[in-house]
Amino acid sequence: MTSAQPVVLAEGVHKSFGLNEVLRGIDLQVLPREVFCLIGPSGSGKSTFLRCINHLEKINAGRLWVDGELVGYRQKGDRLYELKDSEVALKRRDIGMVFQRFNLFPHMTALGNVMEAPVQVKKQTKAVARERALRLLDRVGLADKVDSYPAQLSGGQQQRVAIARALAMEPKLMLFDEPTSALDPELVGEVLDVMRGLAEDGMTMIVVTHEMGFAREVGDALVFMDGGVVVESGHPREVLTNPRHERTRAFLSKVL
Ligand code: ADP
Ligand code: MG
Repeated sequence: MTSAQPVVLAEGVHKSFGLNEVLRGIDLQVLPREVFCLIGPSGSGKSTFLRCINHLEKINAGRLWVDGELVGYRQKGDRLYELKDSEVALKRRDIGMVFQRFNLFPHMTALGNVMEAPVQVKKQTKAVARERALRLLDRVGLADKVDSYPAQLSGGQQQRVAIARALAMEPKLMLFDEPTSALDPELVGEVLDVMRGLAEDGMTMIVVTHEMGFAREVGDALVFMDGGVVVESGHPREVLTNPRHERTRAFLSKVL
């Protein structure tokens, strides 16, 4: 078996905010087409880790690669150069991120939201961007809502627009930070279904979630983080049914 290059590789990643050491040596890898689930108590550093992957935070120690490239640096010979803001912006285009709060542009329709970045950032023509946006909105089950404004949509519909908007940039990697946590329970399923479809299409995704059913059925790998370290990792079914560590057991007993 040949081993594919990981989409994300973390080696001893540390991140502090002042004296608060939030990530205390994270080691993990995410393989192409993998659905990588990240669970852990509030404050354990999950969002911070996603933000490091997406160039929103700078790590203090360790190394972090995305798609084979060291995050934040450009290598020339054996020297490393810090990326300029414009170079960071280019890298960030390849990573889609979906947050707990949908963060749609309130003054734009669903279609406008999905077209915005391809037109403004990728300089696609409006006709091309529109065509693609319509296809993406259809894919997330919102073909009939393309002209609706965010305020006219339910939370689940808004989150599906947010997913379509991220996909419009054709990311290599999708980061989901508790995408269903802010939703009413009856709307969670429609968002998870869209994510399941993405997984089936082979998208590489890191999913921070408390939806253990999703992790078990769709996840390829599961990591339990606590206190800024990886406590336990493995196949989701294995970790969820047979956790090896007391901390994992204690956490799961609260969320399952
Ligand atoms: P999780 O997503 O697992 O709940 P976070 O990564 O959001 O955890 O937060 C981990 C810790 O990092 C918390 O103690 C939080 O207060 C702190 N933190 C996160 N972002 C910042 C920031 N920008 N400045 C200072 N502290 C932060
Ligand atoms: Mg978080």
